[in-house]
Amino acid sequence: MILTVTKYGNPVLRQKGARIETVTDEINKLIDDMFETMRSARGVGLAAQQIGKALQLAVIDVRGITDRPSSLELNGTSSDVEAFMPLVLINPEIKPLNDPIAGPEGCLSFPEMYADILRPESVEVRALNRNGEQFVFRCGGLLARAVQHEADHLNGILFIDRMSKADKEDLKPNLEDLQAETKAALKK
Ligand code: ZN
Repeated sequence: MILTVTKYGNPVLRQKGARIETVTDEINKLIDDMFETMRSARGVGLAAQQIGKALQLAVIDVRGITDRPSSLELNGTSSDVEAFMPLVLINPEIKPLNDPIAGPEGCLSFPEMYADILRPESVEVRALNRNGEQFVFRCGGLLARAVQHEADHLNGILFIDRMSKADKEDLKPNLEDLQAETKAALKK
């Protein structure tokens, strides 16, 4: 089922997600719906807050994106990114492995807004998969950026919080319009 993507101005986007202790049938259904919603919106990642649930749950799929490469390391061995997708992250913990670099980002909760964001180029990720098992991986490039963007969502942090002042200033009229539109729609 395709769900409605929450937009900037919806307070759920600022809520820290609750940890998931058990992957219930309900959570499994939510994961399927999040993938379907993300794909229909042509996104590479989606956090639970973006479908209105404050949970530590995100989905990612970077398959088919060739202009922005990703890298993956499992148990110290370079691994196939495509075969690792689609990716479910429950209660993820992110450890930066190097210095931040700038790269372009958008967000399904901010339609048609883009900016360069500074983030570590590669990270180590520890999370639960949809079977409730813990797994660890290291990733770089687009996948690392997507993981960090989604992990931010799970803590109520949005990409506008990490934008340069100048970029945020440029987007200010659009941000104010979107926020007002979202708040008006929520009152109905
Ligand atoms: Zn986002």
